[in-house]
Amino acid sequence: MKDKISNIIDSLSDKLKEIASKIFDYAEIAYEEYKSSDELAKFLEENGFEVQRKVGGLETAIVGKYGSGKPIIAFIGEYDALPEIGHACGHNMIGTISAGAAVALAKLGILEQNQGTVMFIGTPAEERGTGKRILLDAGVFDNVDAALMIHPSSETAAFSDSFTVEHYKVEFFGKPAHAASKPYEGVNALDAVNLFFTGIALARQQLPERIRLHGIVKVGGQAFNIIPEYTMAEIGIRTLDDETQRKVTERVKNIAKGAALMTGCDYKMELLTTVKRVLSNEPIGKSLEENFKLVGEKVTKRTYEKGVGSTDMGDVTHAVPGIHGYIGVTKGKEVPGHTHEFAQCCNSTEGYEAMIRATKALAMTGYDLFSDPELLKNAKEYFEKTSKK
Ligand SMILES: [Zn+2]
Ligand SMILES: [Zn+2]
Repeated sequence: MKDKISNIIDSLSDKLKEIASKIFDYAEIAYEEYKSSDELAKFLEENGFEVQRKVGGLETAIVGKYGSGKPIIAFIGEYDALPEIGHACGHNMIGTISAGAAVALAKLGILEQNQGTVMFIGTPAEERGTGKRILLDAGVFDNVDAALMIHPSSETAAFSDSFTVEHYKVEFFGKPAHAASKPYEGVNALDAVNLFFTGIALARQQLPERIRLHGIVKVGGQAFNIIPEYTMAEIGIRTLDDETQRKVTERVKNIAKGAALMTGCDYKMELLTTVKRVLSNEPIGKSLEENFKLVGEKVTKRTYEKGVGSTDMGDVTHAVPGIHGYIGVTKGKEVPGHTHEFAQCCNSTEGYEAMIRATKALAMTGYDLFSDPELLKNAKEYFEKTSKK
């Protein structure tokens, strides 16, 4: 059967490369992926999928379904580009890989022998970290039994570390005054934001390892000759586990409070967005690893040491059993994401060949889930055990 999957995907390969390269050229940013999502929707429709557009109130979210009943195996698509730099995260391939895997399973006739639904969920705006959260809240993932996707990278892996990220807005409210004639009557909100970042810099030595604290000042004052009345910063707190996340967040809140107290400002710290770390489902991940090997990929593990980020797929893996795999598209060379060089790899002949291998491995993993009830059962048990922690 896996040979058959491979042949089906070979027969789709020109079309898949064409779709991925079109999405690369469209380079539509978060929530503006009109042409990109439509490209995938049309491909699914042409292959017998029932496609819903504008899902969950999002203009560029789509859901495609083939078959009926349980289990429901969902292939997750992304297709947003980065501002200016385009598809430097390779999302032109992600939706294509997932749609290709979904169509291959439909063509395989797996649902004629087994009950179930092949689903494609096209999720906008991964780069803003919000699309999947909105679709989760809208109930799009409610009956899904497993959610799978593969992201382009420098190496191929089924398992990866990833950060939880909480993104905060920190505001300081002071009092304006003439900077020359009566500065002493002002309450300086710029001092507060300076102390905030100084506090964070000094705290780093006493914070646990394997965290990331990064931020910017968005409002630094109103005019050079006015004591700043209002300043605003944004800060990201990223850790690899919940306990550390709580501790570091508490510390950052106290630093903001201390900076306000020292300067006489008022302050407010507001959570803007949050993304959970990926809970890699071990049984599904092992199946993906095996399938990667079957298609000739050398499989590694993406660890913290190699440099990891965050993804809104993390939230999905806390709601249903899921996996966020990686496919090496850089000919074995280490090329960091979000760079011009990585964008080139994601639109290269070799990159697209790797994309086809990823499509095969993902379709085979979907096939394993449909054809082996034991695997799905193990995936669910693993999910119950790890998601409650
Ligand atoms: Zn990215
Ligand atoms: Zn990405």
